[in-house]
Amino acid sequence: MINLTPLNPSTGEQIALVPSTLPEEVQAKVKLARAAQKLWSERPVRARTASLKKLRGILAEDQGPYSRLITQETGKTSVDALTGEILPSLLWIDYVCRHAPALLRPRKISTGWIFSHESTITFDPLGVVGIITPWNFPVYITLSSAVAALAAGNAVLTKPSHLTPLSILRLEAMMVEAEIPSGLFQVIPGRAETGQALIKAGVDKIVFTGSVQTGKSISVACAQRLIPCTLELGGKDPMIVLDDAPMPRTVHGALYAGLCHAGQICMSVERIYVMEPIAREFLEQLTLELKKLRPGKDISPLQSEEQFFKVKAQVDEAVRMGATVLVGQEGPAGGGYYYPPTLLLNVPESSRLHFEESFGPLFYVKIVKSEEEAVRMANASSYGLTASVWSTDVRRAQKVARQVEAGGVFINDHLTPAGNPHAPWGGVKESGLGTQRGEWGIMSMVRVRHMARSRFLFSKDLFWFPRTEKQERIARGLIQGLYSGSLWGRIKGLASALRAFSKLKDAENG
Ligand code: NAD
Repeated sequence: MINLTPLNPSTGEQIALVPSTLPEEVQAKVKLARAAQKLWSERPVRARTASLKKLRGILAEDQGPYSRLITQETGKTSVDALTGEILPSLLWIDYVCRHAPALLRPRKISTGWIFSHESTITFDPLGVVGIITPWNFPVYITLSSAVAALAAGNAVLTKPSHLTPLSILRLEAMMVEAEIPSGLFQVIPGRAETGQALIKAGVDKIVFTGSVQTGKSISVACAQRLIPCTLELGGKDPMIVLDDAPMPRTVHGALYAGLCHAGQICMSVERIYVMEPIAREFLEQLTLELKKLRPGKDISPLQSEEQFFKVKAQVDEAVRMGATVLVGQEGPAGGGYYYPPTLLLNVPESSRLHFEESFGPLFYVKIVKSEEEAVRMANASSYGLTASVWSTDVRRAQKVARQVEAGGVFINDHLTPAGNPHAPWGGVKESGLGTQRGEWGIMSMVRVRHMARSRFLFSKDLFWFPRTEKQERIARGLIQGLYSGSLWGRIKGLASALRAFSKLKDAENG
């Protein structure tokens, strides 16, 4: 047996010993999930969402101990555990319970000119959905996919990061409490090998959230099995500060969006493009406010030693190459994996900090001369997760926002709009593939099926065998009659089709 040893990032101490699911054990779990899914999918959607409503109540009641557990294993502050993990999860469960029954109801669709049959669309579950998650938002990310999958009639197998398995094991216990049938939601703690085994174990879809590098390898593994995958990957979010940006909101917004959970959020602001006329004021206020933040109280530690040294190496390299440190870089500010909140200027374009995701409590500022330059710099990245534009002129901000290449662009705000359960979530470029949350998230967990039935029981339909000249004339007439560019052409076409049709009827009758 291999054990995982999650550590408390605030102290570096081991919290628990968690047995890992071995790769060879995964297939049996998928089999169990498939058996449970068969029965679950036969329940009406409302019966399934009734169980999810129970889960919602349990999660809300358990918020105290649960947020403490999340804080213990991720290092995020308790406010961040409550507002970044539990609250958005509850909003999402609520959304799914309210909207899934209508969205998943079979729909009659038009058949256009082909009036010989009636068509219905059904939304069938995919089967077993595999969810592979990172360590930064173990709960919300898992539930974003799992709740949609369960409501749509699927079973779920989820592999949390080896650094944060505890909150997801607790979630598994809550599912049991909510009377979600055994086998329907299973947690398989482990490292990469367990994730790889999950993809190979015969699941019907993978939802992966994590780094670009792993995402690409997951996409290849899914392609080899021809199963769909949704990829939610990294980001290096830009913030564009126009010369009429609202102060001091923009300063506080930058601090929140850049440093919340020590910048370990895929949509953390890592690059700020500020227009020259207000650059000085903005930088002075940002420096002043940044120095007031307290590591341990406002700023969380990094998740691991590895993350700490990754961030440190990026900053050290940028400084060696000529970047200016306005705040920070004086070494760890306490025990655990705390990295000092850092603000940089003049980061060289060839440094890794300039283009690689940092995932640390830091950002750099670049002073730009125009909106055009700001947009060009914002788009000069392989990432495209989210972005924000800050201005008191909403129309101007919207015009700039439309030019930014990102899955979501927000005006005078950054992180918070992503918690809206009605909104789609997904990146462009290397930030991901596919969409979660909102109605798109629910619909991404179903197979759309076309069910059609003939309205008539004639011995033969019009274009069935044998092939005849009259069939050809009818077909030609219909094509011209329906789609000719001129009215006269249409009339002629329809008349010709009708003539051929009546002769066909005469021939049949004679
Ligand atoms: P990671 O890619 O190292 O690991 C993510 C998960 O994949 C873990 O559970 C890991 O065990 C598993 N894994 C690793 N290799 C695998 C393989 N070959 N096959 C199957 N599973 C494998 O990412 P991380 O360091 O845990 O998380 C940080 C990254 O996640 C950052 O890049 C961040 O931007 C991204 N992220 C994106 C979003 C989003 O919604 N776009 C949200 C949160 C985090």
